Amino acid sequence: MKILIVNAGSSSLKYQLIDMDNEETLAKGLVERIGMGVPGHANMKVDDKTVCDVEEPIEDHVKACHLMLGFLTDPEKGVVKDMKEIGAVGHRVLHGGNKFSESVIINQAVMDAIEEFIPLGPLHNPANLMGIKACQAVMPGTPMVAVFDTAFHQTMPPKAYMYGVPYEYYERLHVRRYGFHGTSHRYVSKRTAEFLGKDPKDLRIIVCHLGNGSSLSAVNGGKCVDTSMGITPLEGMIMGTRSGVMDPAVVQYICDNDHISVDEMLNICNKKSGLLGISGLSNDMRDIDKAAREGHERAKLARDMLIYGIRKYIGQYSAAMNGVDVIVFTAGIGENNIELRRDVMAGFEYMGAKIDQEKNAAIKPGHAYEADISAADSKVKILVIPTNEEIAIARDTLELVTKG
Ligand code: ADP
Repeated sequence: MKILIVNAGSSSLKYQLIDMDNEETLAKGLVERIGMGVPGHANMKVDDKTVCDVEEPIEDHVKACHLMLGFLTDPEKGVVKDMKEIGAVGHRVLHGGNKFSESVIINQAVMDAIEEFIPLGPLHNPANLMGIKACQAVMPGTPMVAVFDTAFHQTMPPKAYMYGVPYEYYERLHVRRYGFHGTSHRYVSKRTAEFLGKDPKDLRIIVCHLGNGSSLSAVNGGKCVDTSMGITPLEGMIMGTRSGVMDPAVVQYICDNDHISVDEMLNICNKKSGLLGISGLSNDMRDIDKAAREGHERAKLARDMLIYGIRKYIGQYSAAMNGVDVIVFTAGIGENNIELRRDVMAGFEYMGAKIDQEKNAAIKPGHAYEADISAADSKVKILVIPTNEEIAIARDTLELVTKG
């Protein structure tokens, strides 16, 4: 069966068509600047080569889906003859609140729940819903599945997910830690066990998903027991543009002094902080590394803060699980940044974790592969496992639509 993966944002839609007979990507592409009143852009790549590329007004997500299907079924450049060859669609959905601990077939009740959790995911959930409705409009009758970023973390115990504010906020407003990147944490922790030839039940794993957005999770016996992102993706270590965790009084202090609203301040915390805000240069770790090597003090500070933040979470999660068997690096920074992996792991010999510098350096940026980079005498395995959220979404979709 061929499965279409859709990741809809407020003004963009990323897609990928996967042939599940061999899990091969047939095509992938992007539609951007949807509904912005300026010419939009849509493309499709096959074997990493752009085969379709248009610039034209794209007023809404329905138009975006028409363009996507037009590319996929194009008589010359397309990869399927007919839309009917697409057996199902898997949608990435940000927030499933406390209702979804796994992926589900989309029906009206599921759509109502995604809508119910809009206050918890105000930017993403409305966009995800638009993507679902647009696909339903252009592909009526095709089964669709929702795969939630929050689902894998639903196994956290209350002591890990509760915030220390009065309990009534949890009961009345669902205030708690949810966590994100769950599809990646699930995929990578499962692959980790397979790679090591072990039963997930026998492993205590710390997954370091380090990208533009970063989160760590503690996975004990195959179940997530803690994660660093919170009610929104703002909590955790510093990220590309996010501040990470801080004393909430900072928000009030800056709002009062600079006469800005909480909304404005949270926008600063989400979009202008982290690596970008500290360095004043860039949110991209490659730029930060380059500037740090050239002696840029604030780039060095941003890098140090990120590494220190990751190390603190590794310490926390090792305490949470009474030890750790595997530490695994994934996502853009985790897969590609040799020096960062080296510096994060430096000095963890006291808890039995020691990196092999040569194996670590052998994984060249842009060419990540599954690898054990721990030293021969390391009690804790240190791995690199490239994440693949699309495959995880496609597998869930296939399983749900074929079991009926
Ligand atoms: P997102 O959270 O947007 O999915 P990614 O997982 O793509 O982000 O990670 C983006 C980060 O990964 C950037 O900081 C970038 O510097 C780093 N990165 C991505 N690819 C490479 C590469 N080939 N070499 C070095 N760093 C990379």
